Amino acid sequence: MLDEAKEKLQHHFGYETFLNGQERILHHVMQRQSVLGIMPTGGGKSVCYQIPSLMLPGITIVISPLISLMKDQVDEAREAGIPATFINSSLSYDEMQERMDLLRRGECRLLYVAPERLSNQEFLRQLQSIPVSLAAVDEAHCLSQWGHDFRPAYMEIPRFLSFTGSDTAVLALTATATPQVAEDISHALDIPPDQMVKTGFARENLTFSVVKGQNREAYIVDYVKKRKNQPGIIYANTRKEVEKLWEKLNKEGIAVEKYHGGMEAAERETAQERFVYDEVTVMAATTAFGMGINKSNVRFVLHARMPRNIESYYQEAGRAGRDGDPGDCTLLFSPQDAGTHQFLIDQSHLDEDRKDKEYRKLRQMIHYCHTEDCLQNEMLRYFGEEPQDPCGRCLNCTDNRTLEDVTEEAQMVFSCVKRMRERFGKTITAQVLAGSSNEKIRTLNLHTLPTYGLMKNKTQKDVASFIDFLAAHAYLSLSDGAYPVLMLTNAAIDVLRGTERVMRKETLTAETVSSEDPLFEELRQLRLELAKQHGVAPYMVFSDKTLKEFCRYRPQRESEMMEIKGVGRQKLETYGEAFLGVLQRAAAGEVKS
Ligand code: ADP
Ligand code: ZN
Repeated sequence: MLDEAKEKLQHHFGYETFLNGQERILHHVMQRQSVLGIMPTGGGKSVCYQIPSLMLPGITIVISPLISLMKDQVDEAREAGIPATFINSSLSYDEMQERMDLLRRGECRLLYVAPERLSNQEFLRQLQSIPVSLAAVDEAHCLSQWGHDFRPAYMEIPRFLSFTGSDTAVLALTATATPQVAEDISHALDIPPDQMVKTGFARENLTFSVVKGQNREAYIVDYVKKRKNQPGIIYANTRKEVEKLWEKLNKEGIAVEKYHGGMEAAERETAQERFVYDEVTVMAATTAFGMGINKSNVRFVLHARMPRNIESYYQEAGRAGRDGDPGDCTLLFSPQDAGTHQFLIDQSHLDEDRKDKEYRKLRQMIHYCHTEDCLQNEMLRYFGEEPQDPCGRCLNCTDNRTLEDVTEEAQMVFSCVKRMRERFGKTITAQVLAGSSNEKIRTLNLHTLPTYGLMKNKTQKDVASFIDFLAAHAYLSLSDGAYPVLMLTNAAIDVLRGTERVMRKETLTAETVSSEDPLFEELRQLRLELAKQHGVAPYMVFSDKTLKEFCRYRPQRESEMMEIKGVGRQKLETYGEAFLGVLQRAAAGEVKS
């Protein structure tokens, strides 16, 4: 049985061996046993139901949270030569009939639906004559109230499973599951606890960084400019912020789209498509964007603000590098973000117990931003995994900036905050220290403080950014609310007493990611054209990783091309010739490289 599965893996996907966990999941599924698969993004979850759909007698239904995603999922399967279809509210009655007929005749055995469909009477009536061998629940954490993405419609799934009967195996899949969430999923779908396949969470191709106390906008612009042609997502927390970022990047000449809840559905769809189809490189979005987007060549995910918990962060950041090629995950931290989340939890309608849980998660997120340990390991610990050797890639593992002693300046700021009785915010404090002649300072009589003008050799902006640095490193805390005031923490008091010193690293600047080699660019261009002709997204033609293997091994004929990871039969037939054409020209020295 597994031999046959392996043969399908080679034939349809062009891979010789299974990834960690895939084989164990297939083993359960092919014996019609229910199983919970917890694998990180990019772990190869879809293969775990796509291959069984070709081998099991009845159909495989994939329950997937977003309608907008289904077309992509189906296109991707079809590109690999797997007959698949979806049924959702965008179809007319006749179209739906047609697709049900295909399923009934066994011409198509892989069906994608949204959870809402499972309680549609007409759909259920039609399914009575079609045996369902496997129900795959994608993004299964949506079943859990403790997860960060609870979806009431997912609660329909158990009832649906009792409708299809005991011959239907269940495959629940998710990338984010704390033990609590895993338990909820198993419980809801009746999956025995020993039928859980969990692979490591570590993503060897991702590089995590937390950047603190820097000018946010300037950093983002610089970062994006240094990543020419690299597709990436920038997450912000509010619509307004997304708009601002979009405008700014647009002005800087970057091909950027935006996505947030304030846009029309059609506008959002176009924006998403332009990003997925490589028509723009950057997407500025709220976290409404990207749930399960399958685009595999996202090269960076930049968070302009701290997310509210580590689960959300890992899920969002994990959208980088699904194809296994390098992905950069950077989080820009500023302490106000913590205050905002705190405020939102406060104001929410959650019960006290739930609020406490949310606060705890928030504190863990803040801890992640402050830790000096390996960031990858910090993440693993959160998900209940034993940390490994430090990753050697994250900013904490690689940071070798020199340290500067800034104790004296820090003492000036702290004593000023103290003199101002911890009643003012950053701007006014910076004005006082820089000796501003602002009228408000005089009205408040702050110009008579002994700390007035103490840092007048610096600009007000520099002082403000130094205050940001001190807050980011938890020497100063900020009160909640719309006008946060600065307060001293115990660490600051130690510094004032002279028992602790404050060290600051040089400013961090984004690294330039070297521009691609000309052959890769040429292959990428060809991929874009072919994708347009075939009406699919470029990553569905071949992944970035496969293109890089082309550059490395330079196959010259079909048999050599078949050896490359990611080249299956169908893709070879559809696209092989065109790519071989470029590779042969390169071998003849006609493409610079
Ligand atoms: P997930 O849904 O877990 O995020 P996908 O199913 O989208 O992951 O797969 C991620 C990437 O891994 C895809 O590019 C896919 O082609 C690739 N992949 C899947 N299975 C294998 C395998 N056995 N060997 C190599 N790559 C694989
Ligand atoms: Zn590390």
